Amino acid sequence: MTSKGRIYLVGAGPGDPGLITVRGAELLAQADVVVHDYLVSARLIDLARVDAERIYVGKKAGEHTLAQEDINKLLVDKARSGATVVRLKGGDPFVFGRGGEEALAAVEAGIEYEVVPGVTSGVAGLAYAGIPVTHRGLASNVAFITGHETPDKGDSDLDYEALARWRGTLVFYMGVANIDRICTSLHANGLDGRTPAAMVRWGTTSRQRVVTGTLETLPQIAKDAGIKPPALIVIGDVVQLRDQLKWFEARPLLGKCVVVTRARAQASVLRRQLEQLGAEVVEMPAIRIVPPQDDSPLRAAVANVKDFDWIVFTSANSVEAFFEILTESGLDSRALGGNRICSIGPATAQHLAGHGITSDAQPERYLGSEIASAIDAAGGLDGKNILCPRGDIAPQDMIDDLRARGAIVHQVIAYRTVPDCSGADRLAELLAGDKVNWITFTSSSTVTNFLGAIEPEKISAASVRLASIGPVTSAQIRQFGLNAHVEAKQHTVDGLISAILEAEQSC
Ligand code: SAH
Repeated sequence: MTSKGRIYLVGAGPGDPGLITVRGAELLAQADVVVHDYLVSARLIDLARVDAERIYVGKKAGEHTLAQEDINKLLVDKARSGATVVRLKGGDPFVFGRGGEEALAAVEAGIEYEVVPGVTSGVAGLAYAGIPVTHRGLASNVAFITGHETPDKGDSDLDYEALARWRGTLVFYMGVANIDRICTSLHANGLDGRTPAAMVRWGTTSRQRVVTGTLETLPQIAKDAGIKPPALIVIGDVVQLRDQLKWFEARPLLGKCVVVTRARAQASVLRRQLEQLGAEVVEMPAIRIVPPQDDSPLRAAVANVKDFDWIVFTSANSVEAFFEILTESGLDSRALGGNRICSIGPATAQHLAGHGITSDAQPERYLGSEIASAIDAAGGLDGKNILCPRGDIAPQDMIDDLRARGAIVHQVIAYRTVPDCSGADRLAELLAGDKVNWITFTSSSTVTNFLGAIEPEKISAASVRLASIGPVTSAQIRQFGLNAHVEAKQHTVDGLISAILEAEQSC
């Protein structure tokens, strides 16, 4: 932790995690403490370091986990202890977010703070619903208004007469409970009952739902549709553009919840593509990389690294594990000055480059014979001492091939791959509530690890469908008494997505 604490009031944007600012994402990655509330996407909180403290302070309508004064105190106390605190707030921190109060608390406590504005839902939620807040000829002004007024207050703080004369777009935040009062007051003060009006719930997310009507009809339409918070009410002629401009709702997987089962590091491609198609993606990492149970062989190898002619790195994980021990031992890359280095695949080479090391041999594939030939070509193998820091379940053929050509191979376990059950409770909850539409499986090992963490009965009891990347994976699913509902024709991430899309379109 830095000695001088700071508070950053960061806007998380309206829901779609891609709508945070670059500065906001940067600060999240540096934070020691992240204090967040209800409307913030879990994906953004994942941007914080694994060891960062995450504190949920709530603020779902009617359910305040911490009072505002307690939140202010928490921010100040954490910053005083020297922490870099990111206060992550939905939308923009200064738009109906009480960010101003948190900034004042920092000023009073003499703590440095910074505000990182966010994309407010009153603009972005409407944009994703195909409603521009202003439009030439339809609205030259826009007003952002709180619709949250305590029902026991007799007179409203809002000047409905002025709002009815506004002749632009009216956007009400927090207005779901008061929609009747908002619409009748505007009407009573002279706003035409036929003025177009809409409500946007969970705007910018896969759960986005929009209803439209007029000033007169919207309250009943919203009630019939069961619209609950968080939602925006928008009143004005711009609403009529939605028929032509509703781009987001055309996405084929909108409203579908898809579980992605891969090791965290590899899940991103599949996740991004599914999200682009409108799906809500829940990541269930099936495996996790952890240090070896006994790291003394790795430590000994690092200490005696000068004894080896070659070091063969077979994965990015092995590079990072090796350098962690090297650093802990008070050494750096210069300790490898006398070694020749072989890296397998571009990702491994890239991680080595991160430590200032260029490989002397770099076969593209993890194939024993290719690795042996690459090293052989770079100076011969016979009698050479070769160190292989690797994972606990790495294939043996590389070692056999090196030995067959006369090398003296010293293997050490640098890391282990273990099942990761961290998402299991949350997923079980989602399955029990029948909230999941698809579970994707991209290899037979993820099937094994996943179904080791979630009992197959929980899956068969829900109406979820399983998507498999190919026959080997499907066979493994059957081993657990379940069936893949779709199987990719091409055994790639693209093929898997096509199979899901086809199944969705045919029902
Ligand atoms: N600071 C936030 C607003 C906080 S007030 C911002 O700038 O957006 C909370 C209200 O914001 C909710 O009651 C709802 O009216 C609105 N809101 C926030 N996110 C929303 C979303 N994704 N979709 C619709 N309304 C949203």
